[in-house]
Amino acid sequence: MKSCVVIGGGINGLCVAYYLALEGHQVTVLDQSDMTDGCSYGNAGLVVPSHVIPLAQPGMIAQGFRWMLDSKSPFYVKPRFHKELFSWAWKFYRHSTRSHVERSMPLLRDLSLFSKELYRDLATKADFLYQEKGLLMLYQSEKVGNEEIEAGREAEQLGLEVNYLSAAQIADLESGVELNARGGVLYKSDGHLYPQKLMSFLKSELGTLGVKILKQSRVHDFKRRGSRIESVMVGDQEVRGDEFILCAGSWSPRLAKKLGIKLSILPGKGYSFDVQNNNHMPQVPAILCEGKVAVTPMGETIRFGGTMEITHVNDNKINSNRVEGILNTINDFYPELNIFSPKKEDTWHGFRPCTPTGLPIISRSKKVSNLVVATGHSMMGLSLGPVTGKLVEEMISGKSLSISSELLQGE
Ligand SMILES: Cc1cc2nc3c(=O)[nH]c(=O)nc-3n(C[C@H](O)[C@H](O)[C@H](O)COP(=O)(O)OP(=O)(O)OC[C@H]3O[C@@H](n4cnc5c(N)ncnc54)[C@H](O)[C@@H]3O)c2cc1C
Repeated sequence: MKSCVVIGGGINGLCVAYYLALEGHQVTVLDQSDMTDGCSYGNAGLVVPSHVIPLAQPGMIAQGFRWMLDSKSPFYVKPRFHKELFSWAWKFYRHSTRSHVERSMPLLRDLSLFSKELYRDLATKADFLYQEKGLLMLYQSEKVGNEEIEAGREAEQLGLEVNYLSAAQIADLESGVELNARGGVLYKSDGHLYPQKLMSFLKSELGTLGVKILKQSRVHDFKRRGSRIESVMVGDQEVRGDEFILCAGSWSPRLAKKLGIKLSILPGKGYSFDVQNNNHMPQVPAILCEGKVAVTPMGETIRFGGTMEITHVNDNKINSNRVEGILNTINDFYPELNIFSPKKEDTWHGFRPCTPTGLPIISRSKKVSNLVVATGHSMMGLSLGPVTGKLVEEMISGKSLSISSELLQGE
């Protein structure tokens, strides 16, 4: 059995720690924060096998430029003269091809469906409001409807169950609230959960399994011997281990650089806010396609989430134009809800760790022999947490991998 040090205690770090500890490894998790509010907490909680098409896809660059011209649109790149941004954008452009999409789709499907199986199993151990009600992609315009129907057909070809619904059929399905949508594509494959409850469960389960969780413990350097890491530095303390797993989300490139490893990951800032006990509560999770807003019922709460601002990790500003964009979309699709602008302090933001391929990196490092990298999950980190944890455990235990692909090695 090995001694393992997990850097970063978001959903991926905690899942890695969980599956390693279940196999009897001795695990320490280090996190620079108090582990209550990061990207893995305020996200929309959707478990999305439906998302088989990676972000890097044909048409995305042109769409991105159109969105950039509208301050309330769901996508924005903060202009910066920075080498990392140019290099990321160039790689994104190179991957926005049909052949990349075709190679990625079966992999994303397999990862997501396996992860969902693992969620089903985890949900037997605790109540984090895990449900499988599917995901409704709602649209108002014919153009967006056609795009969604086309995406649905592609998912069907990969074996996912997809229904195409008229406005009347949507009204039958969504009894909680009136909807203003031309139609919708329902992915029966999808689930949803309450991220905060999931994270609390994982932390308490790790405690029971004997995992050491060290909060407010920022790793700032590594001590190496040859091609191996001997220890990580937290302040002036050394934390030693046999294996190290880098799960630091959007902060991963900074740390990887210390080891001479280039990781092309940029933070995609997104916002969410919760509405409690509204008279009208959507019952079925949805994405409001024109504004790319996610709507997730979580018990007495509805969470709304959206926008993707490619930026840097110190950009903690809440951009009220973008939040208003989310709000306009919600009130457009759900005329009865009548949601008001949340206060700044009630608006959560998080940084999705975005790769230019739209695929996560789950791979043993080629440069550093006892390092596994598990990051870059972009918009799907919550969905793919369990499968990431399981694959990392298999790598470290020396087992054959349940899913393996060179596409998971990153750029
Ligand atoms: C608005 C929004 C909605 C979303 N909705 C969904 C959704 O519905 N479904 C879905 O699947 N995904 C969703 N996501 C994406 C998902 O939240 C992320 O992909 C996921 O949380 C990333 O998890 P992670 O563990 O890789 O990174 P993080 O959660 O960012 O965790 C990384 C951790 O590393 C720690 N860390 C960083 N540097 C150091 C260091 N030097 N030393 C120690 N610790 C360090 C950080 O403190 C942090 O806790 C959404 C994201 C946003 C922003």
